[in-house]
Amino acid sequence: MKLIDGKQIAATIKDEIASEVKRIKDNDGKVPHLAAILVGEDPASQTYVNNKSRACDRVGFDSSTYRFPVDVSEKELLDAVNFINNDPEIDGLIVQLPLPDHIDNQKVIQQIRPEKDVDGFHPVNVGRMTIGLPSYVSATPFGIMELMMRSRIETKGKNCVILGRSNIVGKPMSLLMARNEEPGNATVTVCHSKTQNLAEITSRADILIVAIGQPEFVTADMVKEGAVVIDVGIHRVPSSKTKSGFKLIGDVRFDEVSEKASFITPVPGGVGPMTIVSLLMNTLKASKKEIYG
Ligand code: NDP
Repeated sequence: MKLIDGKQIAATIKDEIASEVKRIKDNDGKVPHLAAILVGEDPASQTYVNNKSRACDRVGFDSSTYRFPVDVSEKELLDAVNFINNDPEIDGLIVQLPLPDHIDNQKVIQQIRPEKDVDGFHPVNVGRMTIGLPSYVSATPFGIMELMMRSRIETKGKNCVILGRSNIVGKPMSLLMARNEEPGNATVTVCHSKTQNLAEITSRADILIVAIGQPEFVTADMVKEGAVVIDVGIHRVPSSKTKSGFKLIGDVRFDEVSEKASFITPVPGGVGPMTIVSLLMNTLKASKKEIYG
């Protein structure tokens, strides 16, 4: 079994981006700038946005955070998106989700100019990805493709089974794995909560990508000998063995599945570290106008 070390791969990519930013600065070019809109005081959202801004500092990007109280009106938020859309200094904009209930998430996402939608959630970017045009791909699927590419995992002609069909992970993952490009060119099956004979389907997978949000759902008997297993799930559970009293686990029973897999991502340290790095890669593309010219 070979561990896919997302932490190490993410660190390498950050170094590559930092070198690129240095080169841009040395040539008096424009430093990439990522903006984030954060509404309310949710601790997880605050941590996530702070991590993004720290990652920007680490690679030499400019970053800014626009903070709003939880009772901000939809109109105020849409105006803020417009303001950032029209600021030539800002290359990429993300809106930290979820937004409060009185705000229509989709309306806000669709207000972002697709050229600045580095989260890849705007329907224009999703549509462009679907038909194989250059687009921003959302962070988690983009990160997984990068992990597979850098781990030299052969995907062409392989049986790929994806557990989960969410808009942010399972669905885009299925399109990327089926595209006529490398990595890609796999034969893809997407499973969800209504799928029958799930274990039989997963047991045929050469590549198994699990994003269902169920702690340690995938056990060794569901996995083919030598399969590549990508675990997207992340759960904080009580533990008597850690100082904090908690530990992180995935959607896969790592101890037993790692015995059968040829490659596997751990939790933590697998898919997770790639998410912010993907956002940095998209922001660099935005500042170089690689997607929309
Ligand atoms: P969602 O809850 O949006 O989607 C879960 C999907 O899994 C749905 O399609 C659902 O089916 C399916 N599903 C749920 N239970 C079962 C089951 N018993 N059998 C088969 N299919 C099932 O989750 P996300 O895609 O947003 O996230 C999945 C996991 O990945 C979560 O643990 C999340 O925390 C984690 N995550 C981690 C990230 C990272 O950076 N590491 C980033 C994003 C997510 P149906 O459609 O029928 O309801």
